[in-house]
Amino acid sequence: MTRTRLIFLGPPGAGKGTQAQILAQLLGIPHISTGEMLRQAKAEQTPLGIKAQSYMDRGELVPDELLLGLVREALDRAEAKKGWILDGFPRNVSQAAFLDQLLQDLEQHCDCAINLDVPDEVLILRLLERAKTLNRADDTEAVIRHRLEVYREQTAPLIDFYAHRQQLERVDGDRSLEVVTAALKEVVH
Ligand code: AMP
Repeated sequence: MTRTRLIFLGPPGAGKGTQAQILAQLLGIPHISTGEMLRQAKAEQTPLGIKAQSYMDRGELVPDELLLGLVREALDRAEAKKGWILDGFPRNVSQAAFLDQLLQDLEQHCDCAINLDVPDEVLILRLLERAKTLNRADDTEAVIRHRLEVYREQTAPLIDFYAHRQQLERVDGDRSLEVVTAALKEVVH
């Protein structure tokens, strides 16, 4: 049976967003990106966006309490009943614990967490390249390096968290877009 409740882990620049979008479309399930939701809130200057923007621009994680309601709403929607890809959430152990509880409340479970492995030097090059085209406020070199540190300290421990539960899949993300997509399809099918 196809696995359709997926968490995408992996550092910034690993290609999570791109691959999650492609896979979500192939599987016909929503792509839930907390980074995208926050960028939209910031662009629209909603109360959430205003609160979140200084954290985002510095490459810090936004406080959990600003985000948890958004994630709950996204997973509780009718479109998410068949499955979902969470991209950029959970980002720390407390968010992972929240997600466990939320999934229990919604009588769902996560099929697996997929880590996209990419070496640091490749990540930095990719992020700097993206900075030229996407014009994201958090894609300057200093902020990029800080986001990688935040990732290592707060998010990377989730790899062990899911590995301990035998829920972790690893995919080498340092390959062409098409090859990574093919590898992801194999993991979920
Ligand atoms: P991303 O597009 O996933 O790289 O996220 C961009 C920025 O949004 C991050 O650097 C954080 O400031 C914020 N963000 C996204 N997801 C989360 C999350 N799960 N927890 C806290 N902050 C987040």
